[in-house]
Amino acid sequence: MKILIKSMDICKSFMFDKCSLCRGNIAIFGEKYYANIGTSLGSFEITDSKPLCRGCHSRRSDDEKNVEAMQEISILMQKERYPDALDRLKSIYDSKNPGHNYNAANIFVNLNQFDKALQYYDRATFLDTHYLKAWYRKGMVFIYQRNCESAVNCFENVIILDPNNHLKWTFPALFRQMMCLIHIHNTAILEGRPSNLSEKINRLLLYFYPKLSEIQKFNNEFSQLKKFIENKEFKKWIEKYVDFCNDNYSSILDEIEPDILFEIVGPNKDIIRYFTKK
Ligand SMILES: [Zn+2]
Repeated sequence: MKILIKSMDICKSFMFDKCSLCRGNIAIFGEKYYANIGTSLGSFEITDSKPLCRGCHSRRSDDEKNVEAMQEISILMQKERYPDALDRLKSIYDSKNPGHNYNAANIFVNLNQFDKALQYYDRATFLDTHYLKAWYRKGMVFIYQRNCESAVNCFENVIILDPNNHLKWTFPALFRQMMCLIHIHNTAILEGRPSNLSEKINRLLLYFYPKLSEIQKFNNEFSQLKKFIENKEFKKWIEKYVDFCNDNYSSILDEIEPDILFEIVGPNKDIIRYFTKK
């Protein structure tokens, strides 16, 4: 009898997958759904795809009515009417929709409510650990909160998820990560603590240099820096380069960050993008 029960249990575990979000049983037949659900809120871990039930899956995208609301929200955001955008989002908000959490977080950033923004980015990256833009913007919030260590982890995820910069977020993530590492390194030196970051920072600076010098706007400045390389005065060049990046931090990011303000995933998984002029 015991053996029978045991074998039935084994059968059951073969027959049913548990939904990674609601822990409900997943129907054996029919379409299977998967998503990169995280291990816990606030974790930096990038996970593989996990099974989802049909109900939880359907809540990840927007129906036509929601797409309409999202379009309204994007217009309100472009007009910088953030409290109105938040009210409109609240009327359709679904806690299991990664995009809703991402957009809510973006609105809170614009309202300078960084703790709130972080809560929603945490949820967005928990519901989809491959959510590149959410990692990027979450990293920015950590910078605003002067938590450079956590920011570095967020930017690292962007780099891991899109090493070839197909989605255009990796390059700015590398720049932001580099500047965070420089800050962590300099703080350690100032406080008399050891730092083993200088090699990584130098590698990033060298990686970044040709890409940045391609941008027309920075060509002149870089041709001046170049003479330091040619003179093989590497240390001097590094110092100049870091100063240059610090002085031009915002304008460099203006040049290299994608202009997408807002993104909506429609019922057919079609992505509607809204661009904004910086
Ligand atoms: Zn479920």
